[in-house]
Amino acid sequence: MPVVDYGQYCEMLDRARKGKFAYPAINVTSLTTANAVLKGLADSKSDGIIQVSTGGGAFASGAAVKDMALGAISIADHVHRVAARYPIYVALHTDHCQADKLDAFVMPLVKETERRRAAGEPNLFNGHMFDGSALALKDNLDIAVKLFERFTKSDLLLEIEVGVVGGEEDGVSASAAAKLYTTPEDTLEVARLMKTKDGQPLLLAATFGNVHGVYKPGHVKLKPSILKDCQDAVVKEYGPESRFYFVFHGGSGSDIQDIHEALDYGVVKMNVDTDMQYAFSRAIANHFFKNYDGVLKVDAEVGDKKAYDPRSYMAIAERAMAERVKRAAIDLRSAGNALVKH
Ligand SMILES: [Zn+2]
Repeated sequence: MPVVDYGQYCEMLDRARKGKFAYPAINVTSLTTANAVLKGLADSKSDGIIQVSTGGGAFASGAAVKDMALGAISIADHVHRVAARYPIYVALHTDHCQADKLDAFVMPLVKETERRRAAGEPNLFNGHMFDGSALALKDNLDIAVKLFERFTKSDLLLEIEVGVVGGEEDGVSASAAAKLYTTPEDTLEVARLMKTKDGQPLLLAATFGNVHGVYKPGHVKLKPSILKDCQDAVVKEYGPESRFYFVFHGGSGSDIQDIHEALDYGVVKMNVDTDMQYAFSRAIANHFFKNYDGVLKVDAEVGDKKAYDPRSYMAIAERAMAERVKRAAIDLRSAGNALVKH
């Protein structure tokens, strides 16, 4: 199916919130990883979200160019072209963008969508994340409100973060003193500022002890009940229609019970990056260890072209990542829940 439009994306999110499941939102950095997500989603009969980080965009544009917006446009263009060949829907997002990177990343992408819409073409991305979690709440939300107003005009969804996800992602790490648990008061302020009459969804990454990266079991103290407290508070103040669409960041390595509890409380999008990186690289490592004499020219031999042709191991890695996407769709209960029934 083509990349979703605004109406279809809203329908996806609504179905997830009602059905207590979430879409895997998977970071990609190349054509191969984007193709892996589409294959994994299609095999799972799950819709999903493909997203690009600032670092992923810079990488995709090439080491000599390192233009995060340009690389993100390239990946999005590719997804627009190939998604139509798969029997599921995907939305395109961008991931964490701190305030100092908005001008280099999110704004050029918003302008590109505005240009496309003026020419009668579909949006480039469906949504963008602004991560102002390092700022004071007021400063974070001041910027968020301005973005929300501009995004609404172009059917773009905004994702924001209130509270801080621990750990390290894309070279940015949270300090140990960071506020790892969002409060209902924080989220009420979000609802007060960004609740619209026509119900434009806002994606909210509230934090409940989640950590970017992967840690051994026991390291992460998740408290999904925080999400329930925030939902209860907003429903009490603004009614059931104002329930949040939560995003779960830093969930790699979480207990499945904690993940399911978070889904029950309104998580509709779960970002999965680290586990995908490992699945992809694990398959390549396996290929290199198994075919040592083929990928290298050992003892004056010539190696094996079939083993060192990058397509051979990239295809293996693509399949391995697609398998990991299938696991994510099962864990998040989106498997079998595609908008289009087959
Ligand atoms: Zn994140």
